Amino acid sequence: MVKQVEKQIKETIKMYSMLDRQDRIAVALSGGKDSTTCLYILHKFGYNVEGLMIDLGLGAWSQQARENMQEFCSKLNIKFHVIDMKKEFGASMAFIKSASQTGLSGCYICGIIKKWLLNKKSKELGFDKLVTGHNLDDECQTVLMNFLKGNIYLGANSTPVTGKPIKGFVQRVKPLFFIPENKIRTYSLKEQLPIQREKCPCSFYSYRINTREWLNQIGDNDKLKIVKNFQNVIPRLEQKGDVNYCKKCGEPCRQEICKACQILQHI
Ligand code: AMP
Ligand code: ZN
Repeated sequence: MVKQVEKQIKETIKMYSMLDRQDRIAVALSGGKDSTTCLYILHKFGYNVEGLMIDLGLGAWSQQARENMQEFCSKLNIKFHVIDMKKEFGASMAFIKSASQTGLSGCYICGIIKKWLLNKKSKELGFDKLVTGHNLDDECQTVLMNFLKGNIYLGANSTPVTGKPIKGFVQRVKPLFFIPENKIRTYSLKEQLPIQREKCPCSFYSYRINTREWLNQIGDNDKLKIVKNFQNVIPRLEQKGDVNYCKKCGEPCRQEICKACQILQHI
């Protein structure tokens, strides 16, 4: 099983030319099984990886995840970078969610801010690639959620590697794109990785959680079919509008002011 997961990841990296040996690679670490497994395997394969974690400031849960990853990276002799929300904004993610007056859901806000911070910091730290731990189940949920929202165009960026290089945008890479969640869980248990198993204390309701419950009724092969078929649709989805640069923060976006700055304007 361990060898099978590693082989599948190796094949995905090769098929999509995801990573080069000379790349300086940031692995976005949440402290959960997916991103930790990803860092562990890429390190094992000999890639030049460093850990990049956002400390969301969510009490003991965040502190535990941070300590686990700090220790894990130090054991493997991997550089570890932390973006501390409280230092960055003077506020935790929980505060930002409740103070933002956008009407967007909590998990959605958290997702936007994380993506924005990870891109900004990866650039500042000079990384060539940004790896995330998104797995087959995450990707399948995304396809279905966008469909249920009546907007498959939202999935235009849901690819194993983000498309053409865009100035100001660190290429995002997902080596676990085709690996089912349960296989990663088993792998992480077998390799005894120091993973936080408790869920985020703030994620009591989200569209994604409901979608996940639906999707748990189908098998891994069906999930793989959904994700692979959707990959064939993506080239036919026209991207709406050109890439702009946010008037406030300068990050690439599709509006005048990026979504993160819209959320953060009330903080
Ligand atoms: P999530 O949005 O929580 O499903 O996480 C998806 C991916 O985003 C994870 O596999 C990580 O690579 C990355 N990620 C999530 N939370 C964090 C965090 N606090 N710091 C850095 N990366 C994160
Ligand atoms: Zn902005």
